Amino acid sequence: DDDTLYTVQILMSDTGGGHRASANALRDAFDVLHPGKFECDIVDIYTEYGPFWPFNGYVQGYKLMAKYPWTWDLFFRFGETDFGLWLNEFLLTTFCYEPFKECMNRPSGSTNKRADMVVSVHPLCQDLPLKILKDLDSGNERTTPFVTVVTDLGGAHKTWFNAGVDKCFVPSDALNKKAQSRGLDPKTQIVQYGLPIRKGFWSTTTNAEFSQQSTSNKKRIPFFSKPKDNINDKVSSSSKDKLREKLGLEQDLPTCLVVGGGDGMGGIVPISSALGKKLGSINDDDDNDDDCPNYQMVVVCGSNKEAKATLENMDFGPGVQVNVQGFVNNMDEWMNASDCLVTKAGPGTIAEASICGLPCMLFAYLPGQEEGNVPYVENAGFGKYSGNPEVIADTVFSWLSSPETMESMKEAALKAARPSATLDIARDMADIAFSAKTKLSTKEKVLVAVR
Ligand code: UDP
Repeated sequence: DDDTLYTVQILMSDTGGGHRASANALRDAFDVLHPGKFECDIVDIYTEYGPFWPFNGYVQGYKLMAKYPWTWDLFFRFGETDFGLWLNEFLLTTFCYEPFKECMNRPSGSTNKRADMVVSVHPLCQDLPLKILKDLDSGNERTTPFVTVVTDLGGAHKTWFNAGVDKCFVPSDALNKKAQSRGLDPKTQIVQYGLPIRKGFWSTTTNAEFSQQSTSNKKRIPFFSKPKDNINDKVSSSSKDKLREKLGLEQDLPTCLVVGGGDGMGGIVPISSALGKKLGSINDDDDNDDDCPNYQMVVVCGSNKEAKATLENMDFGPGVQVNVQGFVNNMDEWMNASDCLVTKAGPGTIAEASICGLPCMLFAYLPGQEEGNVPYVENAGFGKYSGNPEVIADTVFSWLSSPETMESMKEAALKAARPSATLDIARDMADIAFSAKTKLSTKEKVLVAVR
């Protein structure tokens, strides 16, 4: 009936910013699709319910390892071996079963009972939560729906994939294949829409061709699908002008945005410095001494205050107008105001850039799950990777000075974009919750009748 409230527990941990961002995006999508009908309980189950170290210290541990990527590389690879997978499951089951059970049994939203459905947006929230749910459903069979939404893009750890889930939402062909290799059924379990990302990126104009692998969903119409010829470039360029005005940027300069993930990592200072100086030197040879810049560079330093201070005091030369920002909450506006992006290979940033049609110069990736984001971008034809600041500067300069290259990369980015993914996933999840409740109430009615 219409007043039914559905509660969803979203399990995650704040290892990197992406898991919570995706969880929030899914919550927002429920609100848009079914206002007032869904309540989400988003929980960092490791930090809040991990019984002791290391289980409750994953967030700091991840941050530390991300700083020294070789340590993360070792950890990731060991975790993918049969022994690593077994050890992880053994330790979790031994030490976290009871506290995690308490978490999953907690009253959800404004109700006094546990959630109607459980969603994992984290690689370490499949195996044990599935066992616990079966136990909570007090039978040999799990009745509470459980789905995984993978928040990585071109690569992902094996622990994301458990053949016991009802659905596993994957964002890319590479992860679709990996899910299959872990025993998930491509017809009944794997659904490929895209990465769930923030609301600000949902409705951006796109000419993305909607393609999905799941045969069961093949005929579904994407929420924001638009025929290709509906795209009106003039509309997007005038909104770009408005955005530039709002953000205090120059109107007519080719503009490059530099982002180092939420933490401003991955060498954002040397890269911005090399790129800024390259672009800044461009009109040095000009005979006229009017110091008009030819390019614009925006650097978003995220929470890296030191990088912001260093770049603010740097001299780049007269050829470039430089704008340095700290953490911004309107990334959709900064991206839509720019012409290309230089970034660490974070899944969220790449998916967002693709929706905005930005060619991407990737400058760093975390070994393991972010490694696959490089071929994801390169094979789709909307970017390149280099770890060398000079090569990055030269490449970006060559892009910005070739309108044809920019245009074809923009098209490739838009083609790879999946701006309707978040709503598509939430819509499917809502359907799962609805049908589970119907099944449950039918079962209850039958039981009453039998009695
Ligand atoms: N971001 C933001 N403001 C900033 C810097 C980054 O909102 O100042 C967002 C960015 O748009 C993206 C996320 O932070 O959604 C970074 O996610 P990603 O997966 O790219 O990398 P992570 O930081 O999680 O490694």
